[in-house]
Amino acid sequence: MIVMKFGGTSVGNAERIKNVADIIKSRINKNPVVVVSAVSKITDALIEMARAKDKIKSSQMIKHIIKTHMQVIKGLGIEKTLLDEDIKELAALADNAKINSSIDLAALDKFQSFGERMSSKIVAAQLNKIGITAKAFNSWELGFLTDSEFGNAEPLEDTYDNLKKNIKKQHVVPVITGFIGKTENGEITTLGRGGSDYTAAIVGAAINAEEIEIWTDVNGILSADPKIVQNTHTMERVSFAEASELAYFGAKVLHPKTLLPAMDKNIPVRVLNSFEPGNSGTTIYKTIEKRRSIIKAIACKKKITMINVGSSRMLGAFGFLARVFDIFDDHRKSVDVVSTSEVSVSLTVDNDDGLEGIMEELGEIGTVQIEKNKAIICAVGEGMKQVKGIAGRIFSVLGNNNINVGMISQGASAINVTFIVDESIADKAVQTLHKEFFG
Ligand code: ADP
Ligand code: ASP
Ligand code: MG
Repeated sequence: MIVMKFGGTSVGNAERIKNVADIIKSRINKNPVVVVSAVSKITDALIEMARAKDKIKSSQMIKHIIKTHMQVIKGLGIEKTLLDEDIKELAALADNAKINSSIDLAALDKFQSFGERMSSKIVAAQLNKIGITAKAFNSWELGFLTDSEFGNAEPLEDTYDNLKKNIKKQHVVPVITGFIGKTENGEITTLGRGGSDYTAAIVGAAINAEEIEIWTDVNGILSADPKIVQNTHTMERVSFAEASELAYFGAKVLHPKTLLPAMDKNIPVRVLNSFEPGNSGTTIYKTIEKRRSIIKAIACKKKITMINVGSSRMLGAFGFLARVFDIFDDHRKSVDVVSTSEVSVSLTVDNDDGLEGIMEELGEIGTVQIEKNKAIICAVGEGMKQVKGIAGRIFSVLGNNNINVGMISQGASAINVTFIVDESIADKAVQTLHKEFFG
């Protein structure tokens, strides 16, 4: 069996969905289990609807959402009433939502769930239309249970056995909602933006798939984000470790958690282009032959906030760093990059939720300073371990181009060099490094 996951742009309109159904059909002898994202931009629209400040905005958004899906349905010539139930439920949810109050995370997840619930039905209907017996499933109908961390939920241990048992029972091609799950109490959760990749990997690990295919809109994992650098190239083979670093530090093509379940079961993950199905894309393996390719790719994560904690008295003292991390832990706040100097420790976070409380507590142990609008740049490559002076080359070319860097850190595995720049020059930093290492 294989898992085939299709992202938002791959199911963005009727033509794209026809194309997706054809790609699935071409792999039918591998017993595909399909995972889908919402139609392109629909999750954003659902969030906007959930956060609408008045009924007018909310009804504009639902109209837009309905229109987009009805156009797809019309374009495919499938049953017009296919989404009636979902649309009714979404309208009722909006009616009952308290407008003008800040929406809670559980309600926000419920709104967001409709994107995948509708796209899965459409893809299954199109498959049936071309002669492939398929059935749409909300992930929880196959036992996809999560904890109650709304907006960033994790699957419960039982999910793996549930999925295995329930998917193996099917005699049809299952088309499963990505991104969403349910708690044991029946509340809908999401796995975080871009989380359908993670769903695909969890499903793949559960059924011990031969391969997990992530179908997207570019030819695999590229040497940099093509929206930033023009002459990128595809990395044909990368290791789980390299791909994880890239995903973690901003390469949006894979959700950061995607590789963990695949790594545990040693299942190859392929990143493929639904716009160019013949392209072999990128394959991610446990180990790859090491080439002295130095740097393989450069990732960039924007909207970063940097927090500096200084304490001349305490910094060297036993337990100081532990106290700093405890504060982040207590607030369930994850930290991306850490670097220490003799007089301060600097940390980065990728959103400002709950930051006030953290700052207050940090203020009790040292002086706290915060810098917003930063970006993390991360250069990755297994080959870097063997090559001396890579960091020197990175920082001298950036220096020569007047790009100031801070918080330099090299992971313990020595397959990445990470640093912080002002967000306003992040693209220039990525372009400069790409030019230096790839021409
Ligand atoms: P999907 O909807 O298929 O999940 P995403 O938009 O989440 O697609 O991810 C694909 C996008 O990731 C690409 O269009 C590209 O702009 C971006 N991206 C960022 N870094 C990279 C990279 N190193 N390689 C490929 N794509 C990248
Ligand atoms: N539809 C969700 C999002 O836009 C999940 C995904 O696309 O993977 O974030
Ligand atoms: Mg994605």
